[in-house]
Amino acid sequence: MNYYLSKFERDKIFATMTPVQQAYLMDELKRGKRTTFANILARDKGDVITPKMTLEEVEASLGEWRLLDFIDAGPGYKQIKPPFKCQCGKVLRYQYVIEHQSTKEVRKFGIVHFEEHTGFPPRTIKEITQGFEKIDYELDESLTKYAQNWTLPLDLPDGFMLPDNIIKLIGLRLPLLDRQVAKLSVKIREYKLSLRSIRKSTSCLPKNKITKEKVTETSPRLKIDETFVMMIEPYLKSKIISAKDISLKMLADLGYNESMGKVHHDLYVNIIIYMDGLCAKGDYICLSKNNVNARYKKNKISI
Ligand SMILES: [Zn+2]
Repeated sequence: MNYYLSKFERDKIFATMTPVQQAYLMDELKRGKRTTFANILARDKGDVITPKMTLEEVEASLGEWRLLDFIDAGPGYKQIKPPFKCQCGKVLRYQYVIEHQSTKEVRKFGIVHFEEHTGFPPRTIKEITQGFEKIDYELDESLTKYAQNWTLPLDLPDGFMLPDNIIKLIGLRLPLLDRQVAKLSVKIREYKLSLRSIRKSTSCLPKNKITKEKVTETSPRLKIDETFVMMIEPYLKSKIISAKDISLKMLADLGYNESMGKVHHDLYVNIIIYMDGLCAKGDYICLSKNNVNARYKKNKISI
């Protein structure tokens, strides 16, 4: 599918998003461009970059120019005072800011004057601009899918834990990129295979030999992070908290259809862990807990 958007279409969709969604996409765009810039320069210099290295480590080893910022002044860029400008004085909507890491010299320019104001070889410029285009295209992909009310085209098996970056996107109600969907579907396939092999190996053992450790090993790794806390907070307004009801409501609010019902399991377990944590702190009391639901109530003493 082609996701290219005109500047007009891009601005139009972007304007319909919440400030949090916009900030997230802009941060991703900046970080993506910064990474491309650092990786290409490091490679040109002959530095060895390993997949384990962070962006900051690549930049530090480079010791030369780093992409300090990328600014989109927005459709009203001509009215901004003072305007964003190229080194040569041309008013810009999209401004690249680079900084020399040892001399701290800063240069600002638009993509058209990249070569003039950096003095990088044409081949390097070509690689960097192509890399930037790829990142811009991913923004178009996100925006197109967002405008089309995209939903995840994958069925998540019970107990499968989504990676943190995907939870973050889902929490923000932003679509996944095609490459993220592809990666996720590989992970799901691996997860299903591992489940199958665990089932196979445990089914050979007499029942009483299945040790506790075996069970823990197959349990999903659960993580209650900031995103999760941010996601659940709005659902804790009612008098009685039902973990089952909240998980179903969250699922529906995240825009998933029925085929996605299995995410429910992860959400449900995370909600119980989170609520049990609040009980341990004395903020809530657990009213009932069985194998279909857990119910909680705010602890009045703590208010
Ligand atoms: Zn210029």
